Amino acid sequence: MKLGGFQKMTMIDYPGKLAATVFTVGCSFRCSFCHNPELVIPAQFPKPNNSEAEFFAHLSRRKGKLEGVCITGGEPTIQPDIIAFIKKIKALGFLVKLDSNGSQPEVLKKIIAEKLVDFIAMDIKSSQKNYNKAIGLKFDIKKINQSVKMIMASGIDYEFRTTVVPGIHSEQDFEEIGQWIKGAKSYFLQEYRERHILDPKLKSQTAGQTLDLQKIKKILKPDLKNVGIRENN
Ligand code: SF4
Repeated sequence: MKLGGFQKMTMIDYPGKLAATVFTVGCSFRCSFCHNPELVIPAQFPKPNNSEAEFFAHLSRRKGKLEGVCITGGEPTIQPDIIAFIKKIKALGFLVKLDSNGSQPEVLKKIIAEKLVDFIAMDIKSSQKNYNKAIGLKFDIKKINQSVKMIMASGIDYEFRTTVVPGIHSEQDFEEIGQWIKGAKSYFLQEYRERHILDPKLKSQTAGQTLDLQKIKKILKPDLKNVGIRENN
Protein backbone atom coordinates (compact mmCIF):
# COMPACT_ATOMS: atom_id res chain seq x y z
CA MET A 1 0.00 0.00 0.00
CA LYS A 2 1.17 3.49 -0.78
CA LEU A 3 0.19 5.26 2.43
CA GLY A 4 0.53 8.99 2.90
CA GLY A 5 -0.11 8.78 6.62
CA PHE A 6 -2.96 8.49 9.07
CA GLN A 7 -4.96 10.55 11.50
CA LYS A 8 -5.08 8.89 14.90
CA MET A 9 -8.66 9.82 15.73
CA THR A 10 -11.59 11.53 14.03
CA MET A 11 -15.21 12.08 14.98
CA ILE A 12 -16.23 13.42 11.57
CA ASP A 13 -14.82 11.13 8.85
CA TYR A 14 -16.94 8.07 9.75
CA PRO A 15 -20.59 9.04 10.44
CA GLY A 16 -21.48 8.28 14.05
CA LYS A 17 -18.23 6.46 14.84
CA LEU A 18 -15.00 7.23 16.56
CA ALA A 19 -12.43 6.30 13.95
CA ALA A 20 -8.91 6.60 12.62
CA THR A 21 -8.41 7.78 9.03
CA VAL A 22 -5.74 6.41 6.72
CA PHE A 23 -4.71 8.19 3.50
CA THR A 24 -3.55 6.40 0.35
CA VAL A 25 -1.38 8.08 -2.28
CA GLY A 26 -2.33 8.16 -5.97
CA CYS A 27 -5.60 8.85 -7.79
CA SER A 28 -7.30 7.91 -11.05
CA PHE A 29 -8.77 11.43 -11.45
CA ARG A 30 -7.33 14.92 -11.64
CA CYS A 31 -10.10 17.16 -10.22
CA SER A 32 -8.89 20.75 -10.46
CA PHE A 33 -10.63 21.57 -7.15
CA CYS A 34 -8.97 18.70 -5.24
CA HIS A 35 -7.90 19.76 -1.76
CA ASN A 36 -5.32 16.99 -1.42
CA PRO A 37 -3.06 17.40 -4.49
CA GLU A 38 -0.10 15.83 -2.71
CA LEU A 39 -2.14 12.62 -2.30
CA VAL A 40 -3.07 12.61 -6.00
CA ILE A 41 0.31 12.91 -7.65
CA PRO A 42 2.74 10.51 -5.98
CA ALA A 43 5.76 12.54 -7.19
CA GLN A 44 4.52 15.39 -4.99
CA PHE A 45 4.48 13.10 -1.97
CA PRO A 46 8.04 11.84 -1.67
CA LYS A 47 8.00 10.83 1.98
CA PRO A 48 5.06 9.24 3.81
CA ASN A 49 4.28 10.62 7.25
CA ASN A 50 3.73 7.13 8.63
CA SER A 51 4.48 3.57 7.56
CA GLU A 52 1.94 0.77 7.28
CA ALA A 53 3.56 -0.89 10.30
CA GLU A 54 3.04 2.27 12.37
CA PHE A 55 -0.59 2.43 11.27
CA PHE A 56 -1.32 -1.14 12.31
CA ALA A 57 0.58 -0.67 15.58
CA HIS A 58 -1.70 2.31 16.30
CA LEU A 59 -4.82 0.25 15.56
CA SER A 60 -3.62 -2.57 17.81
CA ARG A 61 -3.13 -0.11 20.66
CA ARG A 62 -6.59 1.43 20.12
CA LYS A 63 -8.60 -1.78 20.01
CA GLY A 64 -11.74 -1.32 22.09
CA LYS A 65 -11.36 2.48 21.98
CA LEU A 66 -11.72 3.27 18.28
CA GLU A 67 -14.73 1.78 16.51
CA GLY A 68 -13.71 2.10 12.91
CA VAL A 69 -11.24 3.04 10.22
CA CYS A 70 -11.89 5.37 7.32
CA ILE A 71 -9.78 4.60 4.23
CA THR A 72 -9.47 7.62 1.99
CA GLY A 73 -7.14 9.13 -0.57
CA GLY A 74 -6.28 9.84 -3.31
CA GLU A 75 -8.26 6.85 -4.50
CA PRO A 76 -7.86 3.76 -2.31
CA THR A 77 -9.23 1.26 -4.86
CA ILE A 78 -6.33 1.79 -7.29
CA GLN A 79 -3.94 0.25 -4.75
CA PRO A 80 -3.21 -3.31 -5.91
CA ASP A 81 -3.31 -4.67 -2.34
CA ILE A 82 -6.38 -2.76 -1.13
CA ILE A 83 -8.40 -5.93 -0.44
CA ALA A 84 -5.66 -7.53 1.66
CA PHE A 85 -5.27 -4.20 3.49
CA ILE A 86 -8.98 -4.01 4.35
CA LYS A 87 -8.99 -7.65 5.50
CA LYS A 88 -6.09 -6.91 7.82
CA ILE A 89 -8.04 -4.03 9.41
CA LYS A 90 -11.20 -6.15 9.73
CA ALA A 91 -9.18 -8.94 11.35
CA LEU A 92 -8.41 -6.51 14.17
CA GLY A 93 -12.15 -6.08 14.72
CA PHE A 94 -12.70 -2.56 13.31
CA LEU A 95 -15.55 -1.32 11.18
CA VAL A 96 -14.32 -0.02 7.81
CA LYS A 97 -15.56 2.96 5.82
CA LEU A 98 -14.23 3.29 2.28
CA ASP A 99 -14.12 6.63 0.46
CA SER A 100 -14.01 6.15 -3.30
CA ASN A 101 -14.42 8.02 -6.55
CA GLY A 102 -16.06 4.91 -8.06
CA SER A 103 -13.51 4.57 -10.86
CA GLN A 104 -12.76 0.88 -10.22
CA PRO A 105 -16.11 -0.98 -10.22
CA GLU A 106 -14.34 -4.33 -10.57
CA VAL A 107 -12.58 -3.72 -7.22
CA LEU A 108 -15.76 -2.44 -5.57
CA LYS A 109 -17.54 -5.55 -6.81
CA LYS A 110 -15.13 -7.81 -4.88
CA ILE A 111 -15.29 -5.61 -1.79
CA ILE A 112 -19.10 -5.66 -1.83
CA ALA A 113 -19.37 -9.38 -2.65
CA GLU A 114 -17.15 -10.27 0.31
CA LYS A 115 -18.84 -7.65 2.54
CA LEU A 116 -15.43 -6.29 3.48
CA VAL A 117 -16.59 -2.78 4.35
CA ASP A 118 -19.37 -1.40 6.53
CA PHE A 119 -19.84 1.96 4.84
CA ILE A 120 -19.04 3.32 1.36
CA ALA A 121 -18.89 7.05 0.56
CA MET A 122 -18.70 7.65 -3.17
CA ASP A 123 -18.11 10.99 -4.86
CA ILE A 124 -20.45 11.96 -7.67
CA LYS A 125 -18.22 14.47 -9.41
CA SER A 126 -20.87 15.97 -11.69
CA SER A 127 -23.70 15.15 -14.07
CA GLN A 128 -22.77 12.35 -16.47
CA LYS A 129 -22.41 14.73 -19.40
CA ASN A 130 -20.01 17.02 -17.51
CA TYR A 131 -18.07 14.31 -15.67
CA ASN A 132 -14.83 14.69 -17.63
CA LYS A 133 -14.82 18.43 -17.05
CA ALA A 134 -15.03 17.87 -13.29
CA ILE A 135 -12.41 15.10 -13.06
CA GLY A 136 -9.89 16.73 -15.40
CA LEU A 137 -9.52 13.80 -17.79
CA LYS A 138 -11.47 11.50 -20.10
CA PHE A 139 -13.06 8.60 -18.30
CA ASP A 140 -15.61 5.93 -19.20
CA ILE A 141 -18.80 7.12 -17.46
CA LYS A 142 -20.20 3.56 -17.69
CA LYS A 143 -17.72 2.54 -14.98
CA ILE A 144 -18.97 5.29 -12.67
CA ASN A 145 -22.54 4.28 -13.35
CA GLN A 146 -21.70 0.65 -12.60
CA SER A 147 -20.27 1.67 -9.22
CA VAL A 148 -23.34 3.79 -8.43
CA LYS A 149 -25.72 0.92 -9.19
CA MET A 150 -23.65 -1.64 -7.28
CA ILE A 151 -23.44 0.55 -4.19
CA MET A 152 -27.17 1.29 -4.21
CA ALA A 153 -27.98 -2.43 -4.48
CA SER A 154 -25.28 -3.60 -2.07
CA GLY A 155 -27.19 -3.58 1.22
CA ILE A 156 -24.11 -1.86 2.70
CA ASP A 157 -24.58 1.53 4.33
CA TYR A 158 -23.54 4.30 1.94
CA GLU A 159 -23.64 7.92 0.92
CA PHE A 160 -23.00 9.82 -2.28
CA ARG A 161 -21.56 13.31 -2.15
CA THR A 162 -20.56 16.15 -4.43
CA THR A 163 -18.26 19.07 -3.76
CA VAL A 164 -20.14 21.95 -5.36
CA VAL A 165 -17.72 24.15 -7.31
CA PRO A 166 -18.77 27.37 -9.04
CA GLY A 167 -17.23 27.44 -12.51
CA ILE A 168 -17.35 23.62 -12.66
CA HIS A 169 -21.00 22.97 -11.76
CA SER A 170 -24.31 24.59 -12.66
CA GLU A 171 -27.80 24.06 -11.16
CA GLN A 172 -28.63 21.99 -14.25
CA ASP A 173 -25.93 19.46 -13.26
CA PHE A 174 -27.79 18.82 -10.00
CA GLU A 175 -31.14 18.31 -11.73
CA GLU A 176 -29.40 15.59 -13.73
CA ILE A 177 -27.58 14.10 -10.72
CA GLY A 178 -30.93 13.86 -8.89
CA GLN A 179 -32.43 11.86 -11.74
CA TRP A 180 -29.29 9.73 -12.10
CA ILE A 181 -29.13 8.58 -8.46
CA LYS A 182 -32.88 8.84 -7.83
CA GLY A 183 -33.88 7.01 -4.65
CA ALA A 184 -30.34 7.01 -3.21
CA LYS A 185 -30.37 6.63 0.55
CA SER A 186 -28.18 9.60 1.34
CA TYR A 187 -26.60 12.45 -0.63
CA PHE A 188 -24.48 15.34 0.59
CA LEU A 189 -23.62 18.66 -1.01
CA GLN A 190 -20.19 19.74 0.14
CA GLU A 191 -19.28 23.36 0.13
CA TYR A 192 -16.20 24.31 -1.90
CA ARG A 193 -13.69 26.62 -0.27
CA GLU A 194 -10.90 28.14 -2.24
CA ARG A 195 -7.64 27.12 -0.62
CA HIS A 196 -4.82 24.75 -1.55
CA ILE A 197 -6.08 23.03 -4.73
CA LEU A 198 -4.71 20.81 -7.50
CA ASP A 199 -5.04 23.40 -10.27
CA PRO A 200 -4.60 26.96 -8.98
CA LYS A 201 -5.85 28.26 -12.38
CA LEU A 202 -9.35 27.27 -11.27
CA LYS A 203 -9.28 30.20 -8.85
CA SER A 204 -9.70 32.65 -11.75
CA GLN A 205 -12.92 30.81 -12.80
CA THR A 206 -14.39 30.56 -9.31
CA ALA A 207 -13.45 34.03 -8.04
CA GLY A 208 -16.55 35.91 -6.89
CA GLN A 209 -18.91 33.13 -8.04
CA THR A 210 -21.25 31.26 -5.75
CA LEU A 211 -23.80 28.48 -6.02
CA ASP A 212 -26.67 28.44 -3.54
CA LEU A 213 -26.57 25.05 -1.80
CA GLN A 214 -30.02 25.51 -0.22
CA LYS A 215 -31.50 26.14 -3.67
CA ILE A 216 -29.68 23.08 -5.07
CA LYS A 217 -31.05 21.03 -2.17
CA LYS A 218 -34.58 22.05 -3.20
CA ILE A 219 -33.84 21.12 -6.82
CA LEU A 220 -32.83 17.64 -5.64
CA LYS A 221 -35.73 17.08 -3.23
CA PRO A 222 -38.16 15.42 -5.71
CA ASP A 223 -35.60 12.70 -6.49
CA LEU A 224 -33.63 12.42 -3.27
CA LYS A 225 -35.34 12.39 0.12
CA ASN A 226 -32.22 12.66 2.24
CA VAL A 227 -30.03 15.53 1.07
CA GLY A 228 -27.59 17.13 3.49
CA ILE A 229 -25.25 20.09 3.27
CA ARG A 230 -21.72 19.94 4.64
CA GLU A 231 -20.14 23.26 5.24
CA ASN A 232 -16.41 23.43 4.81
CA ASN A 233 -14.92 25.42 7.66
S1 SF4 B 1 -10.89 15.15 -5.42
FE1 SF4 B 1 -10.53 14.11 -7.39
S2 SF4 B 1 -8.31 14.16 -7.70
FE2 SF4 B 1 -8.68 14.62 -5.51
S3 SF4 B 1 -8.54 12.65 -4.50
FE3 SF4 B 1 -10.70 12.97 -4.98
S4 SF4 B 1 -11.00 11.97 -6.97
FE4 SF4 B 1 -8.79 12.23 -6.71
